[in-house]
This record gives sequence, structure tokens and C-alpha cells, in this order.
Amino acid sequence: MKKWISICAILVLSGSFLVISSLAATNDAPEVKAIKDRGVLKVGVKVDVPNFGYRDPKTNKIDGFEIEIARVIAQKILGNKNKLALQGVTAKTRGPLLDNNELDLVIATFTITEERKLSYNFSDPYFTDGVGLLVKKKPGYKSLKDLDGKKIGVAQSATSRAAVQAEADKLGIKVEFLEFATYPEIKAALDSGRVDGFSVDVAILSGYVDKSTVILPERFSPQNYGVASKKSNEGLAALVNETIVGLKNSGQLDKLIKKWKLK
Ligand code: GLU
Repeated sequence: MKKWISICAILVLSGSFLVISSLAATNDAPEVKAIKDRGVLKVGVKVDVPNFGYRDPKTNKIDGFEIEIARVIAQKILGNKNKLALQGVTAKTRGPLLDNNELDLVIATFTITEERKLSYNFSDPYFTDGVGLLVKKKPGYKSLKDLDGKKIGVAQSATSRAAVQAEADKLGIKVEFLEFATYPEIKAALDSGRVDGFSVDVAILSGYVDKSTVILPERFSPQNYGVASKKSNEGLAALVNETIVGLKNSGQLDKLIKKWKLK
């Protein structure tokens, strides 16, 4: 009996030693040290997605669910949730900004895909959204099926084109895609009639609905959002993931989702 107790004690002690030493290794990673030395965490966020990452034109302040996640990570690394340098990104700019070290992290409705995982580290998902379609009310479209032969505006480097194409193939319809650099440009193209539909995650579309447009009820291809870091920054990625897992397990993530009315 005594022997068993001491074997168990050794196992428990060595287990906690392993956990403590791996945490120390994570915190000692050179990219984490660089953030500590700099005293500020550089995060790429959306500035045009209400409730996720949005710059209030009146106050010029950026806030939202994803900014709150950035604050929790800043608190974890720097002991101060406000030591953040936020930079607005788009679907097209966020990857290159990580590659050239202008950003430590991207928390910007960035969908985790197998292909992107080859280039970046992603945390566990912190939110799941669906791809949708914004159309003008006038033609009376009820679903993607009604857009057979029509043009759909999507953002460059976004997952939307592949998502809509897969759905169109299932329905046996043909759609044409026009690609734009930014969402305001797609909305302008919808308004002017250059495209018949605007497709992206519903979270993003919600910021563009107005009196003359409507989001169709269908949702395609679930989009899991993750916090991204440069592929070589594995220590930082591990620390970020611990933070996301902690937020999930403590119920704090759900509280933030409720606070920002995301579900
Ligand atoms: N979430 C999608 C993606 O990562 C839509 C693009 C965007 O986030 O702006 O491709």
C-alpha cells in the first residue's frame, strides 16, 4: 500500500513538474520575450464588423468581442489588458502583416482552414459563424437558388467564394464571382447593380444591411474563427491557446458572446 502511495506521489509530482516546465518554456519563447520587452501586444483586428471589431466614427475607438479577447491575452502576457496596439486589417492584409512581423496576432473573423493552417498557427475556435448572402429586396430573391446565372461579390482571400461555389454545385446552378478588396466596395457594387448578391460570413454582412437590402435565411459552410500567429511563433501560439481554452472552460467566453449579442 505504502509503495503504491509513493509511486502515485512521484507520478503526480513529475506530472506537475512537466506542466510547470512546459509553461515556463512557452513564456520564455523569444517572440513572447520580445512582446514583454516592447511592452505592447500588436494585434490586427477588424474595424468594420460591428460587435466583433468596430471603430466608432464618433469616438475613433475600436471595440468589440474580438478586442476583448485581445485584452485578455495582453493581460496574460503583459499583466495589463490595455497594453495593446490595434491595427485595422482586411481579409487580404491580415496574413502578410503577420508574415512581416508587423503584428503579433490576428483576431479578425479569421476562419481556420486546413490550407491556412499550413501558413499560420490558429488557436482553438472561439466563435462559429455561417456564410450568408445579402441581396436587394426589390428582385424578391428568397434563396441562393434564385440567383442562378447572377453575379456575386466576394472579398479577395476570403473563404466565401469556395463556400458559395460548393452550395451552387449542390443546387446545380451557375453563379459568376466578382472579387473586391474591401466589403464597402462590394456593398457599393450591390447598390449600383454590378453584382446581384454580396456573400461573406453573416457576422460581417450584418454590418451592411440597410433599408433596401436583406440577408437571406440560408447559412453555408460553418466558419470557425481562431486567433492566428506567425507559423514560427509556436511559443506565442501555445500561450494564446491556453488563454482561449481558459476562457472557454471558465464560461467567460460565453459571457462575452452574450455581452456582444452574437447569439
Ligand atoms: N471569415 C472569412 C475568412 O476568413 C471571411 C473573410 C473575413 O474574415 O473578412 O475568409
